[in-house]
Amino acid sequence: PTVYLNGQYLPLDQAKISVLDRGFLFGDGIYEVIPAYAGRLFRLPEHIDRLEASLKSIRLNSPHSREQWAGILEPLLEPGQDQYIYLQITRGVAPKRDHAFPEHIEPTVFAMCSPIVPLSGRDSGVKAITLDDTRWALCHIKAITLLANILLRQNAVDQGCTEAILVKDGYVTEGAASNIFAVLDGILVTPPKGEEILPGITRDVILELARTNDIPYSEDIISLEALKTADEIWLTSSTREIIPVVELDSEPVSDGKPGPVWQKMHQLYQEFKKAQS
Ligand code: PLP
Repeated sequence: PTVYLNGQYLPLDQAKISVLDRGFLFGDGIYEVIPAYAGRLFRLPEHIDRLEASLKSIRLNSPHSREQWAGILEPLLEPGQDQYIYLQITRGVAPKRDHAFPEHIEPTVFAMCSPIVPLSGRDSGVKAITLDDTRWALCHIKAITLLANILLRQNAVDQGCTEAILVKDGYVTEGAASNIFAVLDGILVTPPKGEEILPGITRDVILELARTNDIPYSEDIISLEALKTADEIWLTSSTREIIPVVELDSEPVSDGKPGPVWQKMHQLYQEFKKAQS
């Protein structure tokens, strides 16, 4: 496969970066994951908005304009199939290892394209566990420093679960690599945006679809207690879309089957994807 690195399209095995890259030494960088359906990037303006917000939060100037990003990423797509672009920008290669920003260096820009493989068992629902949210205080930045997320996800996988649902001060934040929705007393609820969660693009699409289809919803905090009695729980992300959780901490969610609101939203999401591509 061909990848993009600092202005060039190269075979994967020829794409090389320095061991002094600050992404490698410090995790000093940010990333985006952008799905593409039928060869077209989905919600590109929203992904670029979030990319620019992440860059701004780490005080890195965007190396490219909004128009340039589309031109850089589109040649990586294979026609037809469902794929996603992984785009990473680090502060670049500095002559020596020092925490403070180096002067006069160029950011490293890397992008690759991979097929989207649907999560097996999605339509019958997955298991999740709740874990203490051990991440840092700036979770709204899509930073490449994912060690806490990795340890949390692995803990879930070790217990036969698909995702870890994170809990901070008694309230649910999001999944290790997903946002969370719950149906509580007939209302679709998701935690509000803030520094505790990543502002998911899929999350925004779902809220838009709820609004335009008269599905009652609210952006509100969800206590762990409320989650335990939820009618439905979903996890959302660009590559996995909307996953129903049918077992939480070894207890069934409602009757242990994906619920009617998920059925409806899943269908609306598929139609929305088709209409965009
Ligand atoms: N929250 C976290 C921590 C994530 O890593 C992700 C994406 O993988 C999401 C939420 C979902 O974001 P999006 O819908 O933009 O993929």
